[in-house]
Amino acid sequence: MKPLSDNRALRTDNLHSDRRFGVEHGGIHKPIHTSVQYAFDRVEDLIGAFQGTYKGGYQYARQGTPTTAALEARITALEDGVGTVCFATGMGAIAATFLTLLRAGDHLVASRYIFGNTNSLLDTIGGLGVAVDKVDACSVEAVAAAIRPETRMVFVETIANPRTQVADLAGIGQLCRERGLIYVVDNTITSPALFRPRTVDASLVINSLTKTIAGHGEALGGAVTDTGLFDWARYPNIFPAYRKGDAQAWGLLQIRKKGLRDMGATLASDQAHRIGIGSETLALRMKQSCSTALALARWLEQHPKVGAVHYPFLPSHAQHERATTLFTAGSWLLSFELRDPSSMVHVLNRLSLPLKATGLGDTRTLVIPVAPTIFWEAGPEARAMMGIAEGLIRVSIGLEDEADLIADFNRALE
Ligand SMILES: *Cc1c(COP(=O)(O)O)cnc(C)c1O
Repeated sequence: MKPLSDNRALRTDNLHSDRRFGVEHGGIHKPIHTSVQYAFDRVEDLIGAFQGTYKGGYQYARQGTPTTAALEARITALEDGVGTVCFATGMGAIAATFLTLLRAGDHLVASRYIFGNTNSLLDTIGGLGVAVDKVDACSVEAVAAAIRPETRMVFVETIANPRTQVADLAGIGQLCRERGLIYVVDNTITSPALFRPRTVDASLVINSLTKTIAGHGEALGGAVTDTGLFDWARYPNIFPAYRKGDAQAWGLLQIRKKGLRDMGATLASDQAHRIGIGSETLALRMKQSCSTALALARWLEQHPKVGAVHYPFLPSHAQHERATTLFTAGSWLLSFELRDPSSMVHVLNRLSLPLKATGLGDTRTLVIPVAPTIFWEAGPEARAMMGIAEGLIRVSIGLEDEADLIADFNRALE
C-alpha cells in the first residue's frame, strides 16, 4: 500500500485549522456566520471589495462567508492545493466546473464509468453545444484516441461507483499535461485520506463533501480544488475581467464568480460547519471502514452464493495493481453479484444492519440493488456499457463492527 506522503495535513493540521484563522473569544471552532450582508466603515473599502483590491473582505453571502472560507481552507490543505471553492452539493461543484470553463464548440472527454447524475449532466451540457465523448478511462489509449483539436478537458473519477473500475489516473495525467488539457479528477470515493489527485497531475479536484468528508449523512456540500498545476494564462475561456493579477488564481476566480455569484449553488454556513467537524475524523473513519470493506469483500468472494465481487484491493480486480500503487486503501465502496439474481430482493430484505438506502460514505452501512434504482433511468443499454449487471448490489461500508456485519451478511445469504 502506498502511504500518503503528507499525513500531517490529514491527521494533525486539519484539527487545528479553524483556530489558525484567529477565532473570536478563543473559541476553537469557527463560528457559524449567518450574515448575508457585509458592511464597511469606509466606502473606499466597499468599492475595493467589488474591485478585488480590498483583500479578505466579504460582499454578499452567495459568494462565501467566513465559515465557508474556513472549510475551503481545510479542503485546500487536505488536497495539497492552492485554493478551493465550495458549493451546496457535489453536483453543484461539477456543474459549475463544466459550465464556467467550457463553451459551445468545446469538446470534453469523460470516463464512461461515472456517477449516474454526472453522466446525466454530461447529456445536459451536450445539449448546450459542448461535444462529449464517454470512453473507457481505465485505458489511457482510449482517452488519447478521443482527443481532438477542440478538446479542452478530461473528466474522470478515481474509483467508479458502483463497479469500482480504477481509471488510468497517472497515464491520463501525463497525457493531459502533454496536450495542455484541464484534467478534472472526482476524488469523492477515495477522498484525500486515500489519494491526492495532485500526485497524478490533476488540474482540478472535485469532492462531494456530502460523502466521506462530512461522513455522517447529515450535510450536503461539494468542492472544487485547484492544484496549481494548470497554466490558466494559456486557457482561452477565461473572461477578460478575470485575466488580472496572479494567473494561477484565474481558474478558481472564474469558477467562484460565475459558478457561485451568477449560478448560486452556494453552500450554507451551517452545512459548512458540520462538514468541517466531520472532516476532523476523516482519517480515523477511513481506516476503519476501508479495513472492514476489505474483510467483507474477501468473505463475499469465497461465499458459494456470490458470483463476482468488485473491490480494488482484491487481487481478482482488473486494476488491482494500479489501485494498490496509487491508493492507501481500497475505499469503503464495494459491489457484488449474486449467482442467482432472482434472489436479490429476498437477500437484501433479510439484512438487518445495512440500511436499504441510496447514498454513500455514511457512518452506517448502506446497501442498494443498482439496476432497478440508481441506474434505472440510464436503461439496459447504458448499464451494459458501464458494466452493470442486472443483479449487482452496491455496499457502502460504515463503522459497524466487522464481525457483526459479516454475521449479518451470512444470515441473509443462508
Ligand atoms: C455523490 C457523488 C457526487 C455528487 O455529490 P452530491 O453531494 O450528492 O451532489 C459526485 N461524484 C461522486 C463520485 C459521487 O459519489
